[in-house]
This record gives sequence, C-alpha cells and structure tokens, in this order.
Amino acid sequence: MNSFVEVNVPNVIHNIQSVRKLSGDALFMAIVKSNAYGLGMVELSLQIQSFVDRFGVNSMDEAIQLIHSGITKPVHILSPYFDDRVREGIIPTIDNIADLHRYDSICENKRYEGRFHLKINTGMNRFGLEIEQLDDFIEALQRCDHITMEGVFSHFGSTYGNHRSFTKKQWDKFMFCKKRISMIYNQPMIFHIANSAACIDFPQSRLDMVRIGNAMYGFLSSKANIGLLPTFLVKTSVMSVRFVNKGEYVGYGCTFKAKQNMWIAVIAFGVYDGFGLTRTRKSFLREIYLRFFPRPKLLIQKQHIKTLGNPSMTYILADVTSINAKPGEEVILKVDSILSLKETIKRKYVIPT
Ligand SMILES: *Cc1c(COP(=O)(O)O)cnc(C)c1O
Repeated sequence: MNSFVEVNVPNVIHNIQSVRKLSGDALFMAIVKSNAYGLGMVELSLQIQSFVDRFGVNSMDEAIQLIHSGITKPVHILSPYFDDRVREGIIPTIDNIADLHRYDSICENKRYEGRFHLKINTGMNRFGLEIEQLDDFIEALQRCDHITMEGVFSHFGSTYGNHRSFTKKQWDKFMFCKKRISMIYNQPMIFHIANSAACIDFPQSRLDMVRIGNAMYGFLSSKANIGLLPTFLVKTSVMSVRFVNKGEYVGYGCTFKAKQNMWIAVIAFGVYDGFGLTRTRKSFLREIYLRFFPRPKLLIQKQHIKTLGNPSMTYILADVTSINAKPGEEVILKVDSILSLKETIKRKYVIPT
C-alpha cells in the first residue's frame, strides 16, 4: 500500500564499474534473472543498458520480455531451454546435440545466422554437456549451416573461498575444454565461467566475460572489499500514532504488555509483504541470541524502533515513545533479503542525474 522498494540505480552503476575495474577488458554480462534478484528486471535493465555488454536471464520468457521492452544488447538464456520464439538478439544455451539440430532448423526457417553458447558440465551436475561428448558435439556443429558457436561456458557450484579444491577441479576441467576446443574448432570464442564471487576472489577465472549478479546488487559474495554500495531501501510510512496505558497488551497474541505509558505507531507493512521472513535458516544459538538481543528492524528519524507483539498480515506496531513520530512519517525497514519481499510491492527508481 504505502510501502515501496527504493532502487538506487546510481549505486548499481557504481557497482558495475567497481567490478569492471577488476575485470578489465572482459565483457560484462549483467545477470538480471529472477526479476533482477528482486530489484525489477525490465526497469533496471533499461537503466543500466549502456553500462553493460550483455544480459543474462534464466528463461525464454524473461528474454522475450526484455527484448519487447526495448533492450538491444544481446540477451543470454543461461538455462539450456529454448523454443521457437528464439530470435536474433536472444542467445540460447545449448548442451546437447539434439538441441543443436533443433536450433539450426529454427534459424534456417527464420533466415538468420543464430549464435549460441555451449554449456559444459564441470561438476555442478545441473546443466551442461559432458566433457566426453565434446568432440562429437563439435563434429555435429560442423554440419550445421545456420548457427555459430559464439561462446563456451560453465558455472561454479561453490566459491573459491569455501571450496577451493572443488573450484580448482572445475576450473581445470574447463581449461581442458578450452584447449580442446581451440584445437578442433578454430573460431574466435568467448570463454566464460566467473560469477561475482569468482570474479573477485579467483582473478584468473575472469577470462573473456564475467557474469555478474550479486556484486552488481551490492550483495557481497566475497570477503574482499571492493567498495560495493547497497542498492535498495525498503520504505513505508507511519499510518497513525496512539497512546497506550501501562499494563495494556499490544498487538496479536498478548506477547507484549506495556511496562509504562507509551506511544505506539501503526506501520503499513506486515507478514504478507514479507516482514520478518528470512531466507536463511538461523542456527539455534543465533535464534536464542536474537530473542535476547533482537536486531533492530525499523528506522524512523534515523532511530531504531522496536516492534511490539506479533506482526499482523498488513501492519506492524512499534514503540515511538522516545521520538514523537507523526502520521505520514517515513519508515525504513531493514530486511534480511529483498527476496523475502512480495513482488507486488512497488519498486521506485532513483535514477542518475
Ligand atoms: C545466477 C548466475 C550467475 C550470477 O551469479 P552471482 O553469484 O549472482 O554473480 C552467473 N552465471 C550463471 C550461470 C547463473 O545462473
């Protein structure tokens, strides 16, 4: 209702440039799948288009949506699923010979030279051609007249920081493929494997293109500090303020009883909007700790405000005794993750001036 997510586009652009400083000449693929990690795929992509080289999404539907909204940079579908709606500007991922032939005939019918990227399974075991099939795949490709393999990629299943030897194993397999492909298929080729964490922590993995999601959104996935900025704030407002006498209960469940006379604000945000939901499970000790030292979740006038009682579907009640809050006043909500917020909450964009 009154709540919205304020997306800070200049900060997103700052983060893109911070990563680009690291990755040098490598192409920059902005990963905007899953509604740009909650920040709004179409609007954000249009705002950052001139700062990136390509876009990466999960599905055909997302790719079509971007193309229809005026995106002119190439859009990659990162999963190996595509259909007849594929067209110039949309670059599918292919990881098997049957799809290679299917793509070839789609492009023949549509009369354009289609590009695609080959995905190789190096150990994550989700998508990707097995390395043993590489030679057969290239041989099949040589007989396709309407398509070009523009790139070859793989994806890390963990991070260099957390699983160094697993990551190195994936890297070695990918390097093996890179060598083999250069040997049997002598064409210019974009090799890419680095996501945000790899790009920052494992420099050699940057190769010809980096695929950046988390870092662009300021969600640090690395211990290295490269000066990323936060990219969104969740805002809402005080609907009303009321006086409550000492000894009265506040909110659902009789979980809060006023120990003194107090002022209470009704804030337009609730469980339905995603308040209090967390993406990660907390450890038992962490739960206990939070019970005794609850993390501040609301800010009014830059002051941390305590929520009272159980939150309801659409409202939170908060203690504003010490700050003299007024109806209409701005409230900033601290959320663990934007992914826990409802997509229906309006996204507003602070754009570069
Ligand atoms: C989501 C995704 C990325 C981006 O990963 P981040 O950690 O958000 O940078 C890169 N590559 C592929 C294939 C992905 O699916």
